[in-house]
Amino acid sequence: MTALDTSPPLPLLLDQPIDAWPMQEGRSYRRTQLVQGVYQRAAGCFDDLTDLPAAWRDELAAQWSIDPFASVERYVSRDASVRYLFTLHDGRRTEAVYMPYARRKTICVSSMVGCPAGCTFCATGALGFGRNLTRGEIVAQLLTVARLEGFPPREIRNVVLMGMGEALLNYDEALAAIRTLVQPEVLDMSPRRITLSTVGLPKRIERLAGEGLPLTLAVSLHAPDEETRREIIPTAHAHALPDIVASLHTWQKATKRRVSIEYTMLAGVNDHAWQADALARLLRGLHAHVNLIPFNVWEGSPQGGSDRSTIDAFRDRLERKGMSVSVRFSRGQDSGAACGQLSLQQPEPAAIRM
Ligand code: SF4
Repeated sequence: MTALDTSPPLPLLLDQPIDAWPMQEGRSYRRTQLVQGVYQRAAGCFDDLTDLPAAWRDELAAQWSIDPFASVERYVSRDASVRYLFTLHDGRRTEAVYMPYARRKTICVSSMVGCPAGCTFCATGALGFGRNLTRGEIVAQLLTVARLEGFPPREIRNVVLMGMGEALLNYDEALAAIRTLVQPEVLDMSPRRITLSTVGLPKRIERLAGEGLPLTLAVSLHAPDEETRREIIPTAHAHALPDIVASLHTWQKATKRRVSIEYTMLAGVNDHAWQADALARLLRGLHAHVNLIPFNVWEGSPQGGSDRSTIDAFRDRLERKGMSVSVRFSRGQDSGAACGQLSLQQPEPAAIRM
């Protein structure tokens, strides 16, 4: 855990587009050095930018911040995924998860403090909504993880906006963060390696379709029928399933991208055979891949997870209907970093290896 910084925050440089970043006495190459130091070397403070003149570093440090976090806590799971708990300068907290795979580094970031969607099976939903994160606060999660894990941010292969929050309800800031990541001067990421997760907001999905960004879109469907869906996603009553699916067709037509359908397996709630059939019918004609997610039970969760044989039977039934489907096990369960577990709670000491 780093020390708590209680000094009042300066404006966050990462909230500005890079063509608005300062130059030293009109020298554009100094701005380029600054951008490279902050985004490509993940500098934590201006003093780390030793290729810049000391006097200009002092000037910058008097006017801007490049670190939105007052403190950072880091928890390592037994499966090597790392959970980051960030305290922002206003005292609000949010989370990110780093998942090191053999040949790729994946980071799951948050777009909000808490979440207004209120999914009953999600620990974040139980927290309620805190506030939206700014574009800089979203990107800073990646930079901070890269700096503390000891690799350059350009080594990050996949970014997943699947932490706390409904990214499409923080549309402008989430999109600004994504545009920052794909900018050649910044991280030069392929949009295809960025996954945006949404509970399914048809108007926002249609707007996203017009952005010219072939992202990976992950839709948290979790049920193929309105009644079950509204039971587990209280805010779902605002959006009918046919409207959501129609918006996915619009998005697919514009981006030519396969849609990921997220489906958390809840015992006796959404794991019946008829629901597998209904899901296949609902998605007919859409190029989609269904991820079945075994439920990560958390303290106080109102539902239990489907057992393995039920999940396998559900998967087999979908496959027999011609669906592309896999069972996705979450990492980081012992540190509270798994899907649906992000709750700002510190894990049991037994889960911490540092
Ligand atoms: S599952 Fe996603 S959308 Fe639902 S409450 Fe949790 S963070 Fe929000």
